[in-house]
Amino acid sequence: MSNKDIFLKNVMKKFNEVCDTINLDPSVKTILSQPKNEIIVNFPVQLDNGEYKLFKGYRIQHNNILGPYKGGIRYHEDVKLDEVKALAMLMTIKCSLAGLPLGGGKGGIKFNPHEYSAGELKRITRRFTHSLGNNIGPDYDIPAPDMGTNAQTMVWVMDTYMNTREQNQRHNVRGVVTGKSVECGGTLGRNSATGTGVVMCVEEWAHENEFELHGATFSIQGFGNVGSWAAIRLAENGSKLTAVNDHTGTIIEEKGIDVFALKEYVAENGGIAGFNSLENKSRDDFFAHPVDIIIPAALENQITEHEAELLQTKLVAEGANGPTTPEAEKILESKNIDIVPDVLANSGGVIVSYFEWIQNKTGNYWVEERVHEELKRIITTAYKEVSSYSSKHDTDIITACFAKSLTSLAAVYSQRGIFP
Ligand code: NAD
Repeated sequence: MSNKDIFLKNVMKKFNEVCDTINLDPSVKTILSQPKNEIIVNFPVQLDNGEYKLFKGYRIQHNNILGPYKGGIRYHEDVKLDEVKALAMLMTIKCSLAGLPLGGGKGGIKFNPHEYSAGELKRITRRFTHSLGNNIGPDYDIPAPDMGTNAQTMVWVMDTYMNTREQNQRHNVRGVVTGKSVECGGTLGRNSATGTGVVMCVEEWAHENEFELHGATFSIQGFGNVGSWAAIRLAENGSKLTAVNDHTGTIIEEKGIDVFALKEYVAENGGIAGFNSLENKSRDDFFAHPVDIIIPAALENQITEHEAELLQTKLVAEGANGPTTPEAEKILESKNIDIVPDVLANSGGVIVSYFEWIQNKTGNYWVEERVHEELKRIITTAYKEVSSYSSKHDTDIITACFAKSLTSLAAVYSQRGIFP
């Protein structure tokens, strides 16, 4: 069984376990156990060499009882239906947990974006958006960046979508995507939001555990959007980055790695390998490297039993979605290593996406301080609620996240009823 198949299986296992633990209404369990819509499109794109290539794109709309479907679009060679289904379900859980009036969705295209020119990426994005047609929209399904996509990708989606609307409707539909550049209707603070939210959770954990972040050491897997911003925010707390792993290799530096210089280096070189002429170490060296905090911020299923055995840390703060397998979670528990789970730790991205959506709807744009304050208020409230649920019901924190989220969803189903 491949990693991607295991990912959906793991998410469903957790979902089923928690439904049983909290005696979730069986009809709500049935509804949530599958996405509402699974959209698969195959679309042709002309490459720079003149040839046409067919791409496969997905958009999974898991649930919209709380509001429009919401979730990122991933460009990666391993994207497949089951992976996107798992990620879409996590978005439903995440939005409900944060108390947002949004549902869960996710999308992706199966290809390696690093192998294509900017012009090709633009044409791939535009054709994908065109193929999705009315399956997305600012009041229906709102994509955002994820692995392999960024603000530029979102602006291409927005522009394509706007140009398929009536002339006099175009400016009403900017909110079809979030994570846009500020110039094109994005919000201040969105680019850094997910990494910032991860560190707001780490700060709560540190406060709860009377742990001093100043002088603490940390490592990060994945130095893209989430990983680099989490590194910057932890460095601002006085913590020291000593190990990084990405798709190009592993660097370790006991004296500490300059996070700003590394961010610039990655922007120029596409990965961390070769930074400051540091030796390229093995992946196992990365996971075995002792640090106070590790932040997985790359792919799912990165911490399996093998990596969990290697880890020497106090906290795993999950910037990525689904980075730790259930078997690994058990090992971490036995080693007294805490986890801040993905649906809580990386919810800063969708929380600030929600702010962007509000700003697009109202035309009233916020200063960055307001974005930061509101993000902190929502994510720390969610953290405290989960933490208190976990103590009150004597459950692990992952179960607490799912239980709180599913209980809120079930309350809405119970009050609204199931049509007809
Ligand atoms: P990104 O494309 O900006 O960065 C991805 C990083 O992962 C890169 O540094 C890349 O080198 C690394 N990576 C890829 N394959 C790897 C491998 N095999 N081994 C080690 N590293 C590898 O993506 P991102 O937006 O930072 O997303 C990272 C994770 O965070 C994903 O799981 C995503 O779903 C999750 N996430 C992102 C957001 C967001 O706002 N961008 C929000 C919530 C969750």
